[in-house]
Amino acid sequence: MDDVIIIGAGPAGSTAARLLSQRGKHVRVLEKSAFPRKKPCGGAITSRALPLLPQSFQNHVLSAPVFWTFRGRKGARTIPTSRPFCYTVDRTNFDAWLAVEAERSGAKIVFGTTVTAFAFDGEEYLVKTSQGYYRSRYLIGADGAKGISAKYFGLSRAHNGAALETEIPLALAKDDMNRVEIDVSRYPWGYAWVIPHGSTANIGIGSFKAGKLPSLKHLLQDYMKRAVPGLGTAPILAHPLPYRTHFSPLAIHHGLLIGDAAGLMDGFSAEGIYSALYSAHVAAEVINAACENKTSTDPYNTLIRERLWSQLKPALKMSRLFYPLAGFWADWFLKHTQLLEEYLALTQGDSTYDRLLAKTQNTLLSQLHFRSLAR
Ligand SMILES: Cc1cc2nc3c(=O)[nH]c(=O)nc-3n(C[C@H](O)[C@H](O)[C@H](O)COP(=O)(O)OP(=O)(O)OC[C@H]3O[C@@H](n4cnc5c(N)ncnc54)[C@H](O)[C@@H]3O)c2cc1C
Repeated sequence: MDDVIIIGAGPAGSTAARLLSQRGKHVRVLEKSAFPRKKPCGGAITSRALPLLPQSFQNHVLSAPVFWTFRGRKGARTIPTSRPFCYTVDRTNFDAWLAVEAERSGAKIVFGTTVTAFAFDGEEYLVKTSQGYYRSRYLIGADGAKGISAKYFGLSRAHNGAALETEIPLALAKDDMNRVEIDVSRYPWGYAWVIPHGSTANIGIGSFKAGKLPSLKHLLQDYMKRAVPGLGTAPILAHPLPYRTHFSPLAIHHGLLIGDAAGLMDGFSAEGIYSALYSAHVAAEVINAACENKTSTDPYNTLIRERLWSQLKPALKMSRLFYPLAGFWADWFLKHTQLLEEYLALTQGDSTYDRLLAKTQNTLLSQLHFRSLAR
């Protein structure tokens, strides 16, 4: 019997596997795909996530953007940063590398094995897969937005937005190779992006309220025509964006959820890799202690609420403030570039959504005050 079984070898699952194996736990990861596999993703990892990754991460970086172009209805502004605000990766290689790092630490990864059900008998989990049964004392659900873990743990599922992306070969000018573009001008509850990946660019569109859009695919094709004139057709991939509107327990008995399986995506930016890595670190800490003391995973609920939900909740507030009036706020942010700078500081770990929210409200209040004084 294993100490811990982890369902899914995405960034969340492989990170938890690496950390628990490093602490001497017997860890098995069950992954339905054969690696390397493609995961639809822009592959932009904010700089604040760097301490959560193994040191050799830099060998897998395609570009290190220091320019951020923010596009609204009335134009665009490009903000430079003195150090990269994100690092871009090819998710196929990045995920394969994280899995190898987990194996190097001693974790066993069984690829091509789909978990179809599991049950807890009060002492251990019995996990049913396409290849047979496995047993463990602890279980981590890291099976992403389309996973089954939340259902079998009996924990609440997240809301789903949707995103589409495509990867195109693009001979970018030197500055553009380190420039991320975000367009918030016409995509309800979301935005379109161009993210440099070395000799290619990732172009995509995401929306937290996908049902409200006439067709994400047409919007993406339209954006691609404007962003890269003369571009032919390219294969487009779609995937859900799982996010929570309220905190609810993510751990039960000897099990817990991490990453997209837990719906821990940032509800404003749709950044999910940082939360996947962060929750994997917290999960490893909790399960390591629980294994030693034969206790439940309950402390994970408090720790995630205090350390991560405390960041995600104000992100959601920002989302509820920004997206219903995205046209207005986009123009406002273009006029008040200190707000764009504050967001970039957040991606670098030097600010918070609470500060961004307060600054956004203060710019508005001071403008209203100025106008009433001028009357
Ligand atoms: C189009 C798009 C663009 C995005 N761009 C960005 C970005 O630029 N930056 C960013 O930070 N985030 C981005 N995200 C979000 C990011 O991709 C996710 O948050 C991240 O992949 C979550 O990692 P994870 O390990 O939790 O899940 P995943 O990466 O989804 O991994 C889950 C793994 O579980 C496996 N699995 C699923 N079910 C089973 C099963 N039953 N049995 C066994 N294995 C199973 C899957 O095969 C998969 O390997 C984007 C999302 C989308 C859709």
